[in-house]
Amino acid sequence: MNHQDIFEELFAVAQTSKDPRGVVSACLVRNGEIIASAASSDDGDEHAENVLLNNFEQSTEGVVLYCTLEPCSLRVRGQFVDCVSAIAGASITHVIYGARDPGQSDLTHRRCEESGITLEQVDDPQIIERCALLFNDTVDPQLSQEQAPRKPLD
Ligand SMILES: [Zn+2]
Repeated sequence: MNHQDIFEELFAVAQTSKDPRGVVSACLVRNGEIIASAASSDDGDEHAENVLLNNFEQSTEGVVLYCTLEPCSLRVRGQFVDCVSAIAGASITHVIYGARDPGQSDLTHRRCEESGITLEQVDDPQIIERCALLFNDTVDPQLSQEQAPRKPLD
């Protein structure tokens, strides 16, 4: 599967989530094939990466994590593990994401570098735009007003 095929599958998986804080999906790819996938939880508490990695028990050697949104490195609500920590904890060393998260990007890049994780944005403007729309179109504005206002993703 190429990037396009993998992200098409991520967009299909995203349809299974009702996450009111913005839907994100993620998958694990080994030798060009998707071996596991997940979307963010319907209550918005568990990020796609958490759902994915909590349910994955195989070796992650040679596995690349793909996600529609740049992984978070800081959770402000509740007692949840941020996704960079979850990825590092799962010994995954290569991440390819779609949309950038402006509020987290600098810290995420720094922490990935420290943890030996290669973080790469997919090189396809159309995929990036669809990933941003997926998130932005599923954010409940009332919920985001209760939280710190989020800048639209780019
Ligand atoms: Zn996260």
